[in-house]
Amino acid sequence: MDFNIAVIPGDGIGPEIVAEAQKVLDTVGKKFGHSFSYTEVDMGGVSIDKHGVPLTDEALATAKASDAVLLGAVGGVVGKDSWYDLPPHLRPEAGLLAIRKGLGLFANLRPAYLYKELKGACPLKESVADAGFDMIIVRELTGGLYFGERKTEEVNGVMTAIDTLKYDENEIRRIAIKAFEIAMKRRKSVISVDKSNVLDSSRLWDKVVTEVAKDYPEVTLTHMLVDNCAMQLVKDPAQFDVVVTENMFGDILSDEASMVTGSIGMLSSASLAEGKFGLYEPSHGAAPDIAGQNKANPIATILSAAMMLRYSFDLDEEAKAVEDAVQKVLEDGIRTIDIMSDGMQMVGCKEMGDCICERI
Ligand code: ATP
Ligand code: MG
Repeated sequence: MDFNIAVIPGDGIGPEIVAEAQKVLDTVGKKFGHSFSYTEVDMGGVSIDKHGVPLTDEALATAKASDAVLLGAVGGVVGKDSWYDLPPHLRPEAGLLAIRKGLGLFANLRPAYLYKELKGACPLKESVADAGFDMIIVRELTGGLYFGERKTEEVNGVMTAIDTLKYDENEIRRIAIKAFEIAMKRRKSVISVDKSNVLDSSRLWDKVVTEVAKDYPEVTLTHMLVDNCAMQLVKDPAQFDVVVTENMFGDILSDEASMVTGSIGMLSSASLAEGKFGLYEPSHGAAPDIAGQNKANPIATILSAAMMLRYSFDLDEEAKAVEDAVQKVLEDGIRTIDIMSDGMQMVGCKEMGDCICERI
């Protein structure tokens, strides 16, 4: 099959890591008989320099017309890059918000996976790290507390601020469906996280997710309170497969989950729209401190490309081939500087990409 991918290299290490992910996609394409074509799109600082804004209408239109988007990273250093002399809505990161909105991305997927070869970096108890974990957090991205009505006012001489956490049943249903669809491709377990002992929005969340579960009889649904989930993530992360939760809870829990793996250069992410469309990017930022030095770890971006194969193109076997090659590279003792340890072989960004391609 043929797929058209919009590629946004962005700033900092973005161009280097995206190049390696494209190399991996081409290798998979050759092996399995698919062709991937790429259209390059400017976003972030690079777009400010060329076009004066972090995302042009044309760039957004090109991304929209593609089958999926592969993004490196955007951003620079506050106080060093002149981009940050601009008002906030014209800075590199504003491009990200604009593209998320423009593409209708409402489901943010953040996997947290502990490779046994990298267990040493895991901050959890040895017995917990030994058990390993492989989970994915599905965070609602367009509703909830971050987008509800808000105001700050003076009431009887006292400053008062209000934020509202609002969801309608349709918003909950569409994110729940995503979570169950993802669970069908994994270990068939969904844990829905909320605060239904206190919040009305959580009680509606519970009810709708339970209704959606009826369409997925093979998947086990469990409800968990958010405070308990925060605790369980460090106590026994092996119990989690797919977690689905509202925007703010997901923001907090996905950072917690990613940190328990210990290695920022390894974590992929995806943001999905209605249907199969999605944007795929590493969880880390543009890392300007190591940009242009062939030092970046491209694995997070390569694993994001694997997510694209699985979730946007339904190419499960091909996605697995990429993930297996990453696993094999680690087993073979090959490391970039961020995951380096004694006795391992250190390679650069480009060489890491080559090693993964060889193993595919
Ligand atoms: P954000 O852009 O999300 O705000 P940040 O600026 O806080 O992120 P990053 O850009 O992710 O942080 O970088 C944090 C640190 O991690 C830096 O020292 C950077 O060099 C390192 N780092 C990030 N990504 C990678 C990578 N792929 N390979 C190696 N090191 C990385
Ligand atoms: Mg940054």
